[in-house]
Amino acid sequence: MSKRSFNFSAGPAALPDAVLEKARDELLDFDGLGASVMEISHRSKQFIAVAERAEANLRTLLSIPDNYRVLFLQGGATLQFASVPMNLSGPGKTADYIDTGAWSVKAIKEAGKFCSVNVAASSKADNYNHVPVMDTWSLSKDASYLHVCSNETIGGVQFHDFPDMAALGYSDTPLVADMSSDFLSRPLDIEKFGLIYAGAQKNVAPAGLTIVIVRDDLMGQASVPLPAMLDYKVQADAGSMSNTPATFPWYMAGLVFEWLLDQGGLGAMQAINAKKAATLYGAIDNSNFYRCPVVPENRSAMNVPFTLGNADLDGEFLSGAAERGMLNLKGHRSVGGMRASIYNAVSQTAVEALTDYMAEFERSHG
Ligand SMILES: *Cc1c(COP(=O)(O)O)cnc(C)c1O
Repeated sequence: MSKRSFNFSAGPAALPDAVLEKARDELLDFDGLGASVMEISHRSKQFIAVAERAEANLRTLLSIPDNYRVLFLQGGATLQFASVPMNLSGPGKTADYIDTGAWSVKAIKEAGKFCSVNVAASSKADNYNHVPVMDTWSLSKDASYLHVCSNETIGGVQFHDFPDMAALGYSDTPLVADMSSDFLSRPLDIEKFGLIYAGAQKNVAPAGLTIVIVRDDLMGQASVPLPAMLDYKVQADAGSMSNTPATFPWYMAGLVFEWLLDQGGLGAMQAINAKKAATLYGAIDNSNFYRCPVVPENRSAMNVPFTLGNADLDGEFLSGAAERGMLNLKGHRSVGGMRASIYNAVSQTAVEALTDYMAEFERSHG
């Protein structure tokens, strides 16, 4: 087999070797058809089987209750920034948002075009280094929904607990979460949420697919006419096939779901991910050279931002990493420094290769 790098890309990101090998093995001849899965109709019985198996396995992984629909859409999480307020809120209505970083900001800005937005809490004044504690949130009495970004991919801030809206006294406010960068990294209590969405290219599949999990009663309630493609009810009724869906990413997502089941499911993934995160944050915290700006309680198990003691050494650190087969460690252009994305497909071995290199670099440059 050809060489595989240790890939710390934030997205599109690493996929499991076993998944890529399976896709390769059946690429030219899928299911005895003598054609690839990319080359057949989305309405063929072979592809319908792929689509249904993927959904069934996702339902098993997350124990999704029957009163939730699963949609396999296009347009990325970015289109959901508009779809969510268009379907769940509207002119004259208010939606609450928690602002924990760059992706929250984008979601808030887009939602403001379709409804009125109340930023119920923000950690902006602290440079987005934490999740504001729930007691301090100023929620609206009649919000259409409350939106959180479960994992800020750029800032490395993650919700480790989600609000229980009923316990907070807001049982009528559905909780909506952008889970693009931590979807399927841990088990979830789906019933806490009204809607979950995730662009697939971080932790699930190649780019081109967006997964939406939406509670039945939240569909078909829009107060203005919607483009059919953006209407959750239309998409649910059509089995996400109002038009041609992203068949190849959908198939790849299905292979990843099978792989996750083989690993033991999301409880097992959570334990594996926690160990990787502990290894990397431990290496940062136990050094005098590396630093992570996020408060320990809200650090992401998926995206780990860190800085070097001397930013002039960033280029040398990155080129040394590349020589050792470690890719895509450069921090987002908006924050600088380094960022290691350690999604499901990134192994403990890859993380230890990184921490070994970090220790070596500190010895020679610290
Ligand atoms: C990447 C990302 C997005 C944007 O996803 P697209 O699929 O590129 O639209 C939105 N939210 C979060 C948290 C992300 O990580």
